[in-house]
Amino acid sequence: MEIKKYLEAGKIGKEARELGKELIKEGASYYEVAEKIENYIRDAGAKPAFPVNLSVNHEAAHYSPVKDDGRYFRRGDVVKLDLGAQIDGYISDTAVTIEVGTNKWRDLIEASAEALNNAIKSIKPGIEVGKIGKIIEESLNFYGFNPIRNLTGHGLGRYDLHHGLVIPNYDDGSREKLLPGMAFAIEPFATNGRGYVREGKGGNIYIFRKTKDLKGLYEEMFEEFKTLPFAARWCTHYPDYKSLLKKGSFLGIIYHFPILRERKKFVVAQTEHTLLLTEDSIIVTTK
Ligand code: MN
Ligand code: MN
Repeated sequence: MEIKKYLEAGKIGKEARELGKELIKEGASYYEVAEKIENYIRDAGAKPAFPVNLSVNHEAAHYSPVKDDGRYFRRGDVVKLDLGAQIDGYISDTAVTIEVGTNKWRDLIEASAEALNNAIKSIKPGIEVGKIGKIIEESLNFYGFNPIRNLTGHGLGRYDLHHGLVIPNYDDGSREKLLPGMAFAIEPFATNGRGYVREGKGGNIYIFRKTKDLKGLYEEMFEEFKTLPFAARWCTHYPDYKSLLKKGSFLGIIYHFPILRERKKFVVAQTEHTLLLTEDSIIVTTK
């Protein structure tokens, strides 16, 4: 495991998250917030591991702005800021929830943060992931909320944001164990709803589905983005990039992530950290 690169990616991810917390204010544009955070990551010597996600209220994940989408933060918005940095393919993935100008959802936000803390405290080599899910669910239930059951934490690999391991937000009975040498993200999603998301329309985040025998501009794009998610915003230097993305999605070369929304439009909060488990330590790289 490249501990040094994981640690540096974690530090930059943490700093970018803290910058984002400052930037998300009533009247701020989604586009400018996302661009400023991603530029911070680049200036710090890393690359964004995936596009900055700004998912609001009942949206749980997978929205990233385009330049002309005209979205601005409004008072009362519950914003999930989810971002990551990568160095040489070694990833950090971290998220925080910000309520814009009000305090109506403080308990919901606190519940997801507390669930993450409790989960982290329980980590030791050999722990089963179902047990971590149980701790997360019980922590959220204590506050009167539910986990989102069809969103999970995950293993991290080099240039691989969702690598093998699944870390559920409830006890799904999984006996899979956390072992030394693993890198992973834990991300409790809390809701006042029943706890399921469904897929909406595309959220401007893409990933290559086909990774071999690519031709022309798709080959160039794959060179640039590799096996990590990328934003429509990052493709403006390719000629006619909008139709390139549309056609690529239609042909199954690339995948356009749908926005994930709470089924009945209940509110969602999320908190996330990246961890490394070594022979003799547990490191939260994004703390
Ligand atoms: Mn994330
Ligand atoms: Mn994640």
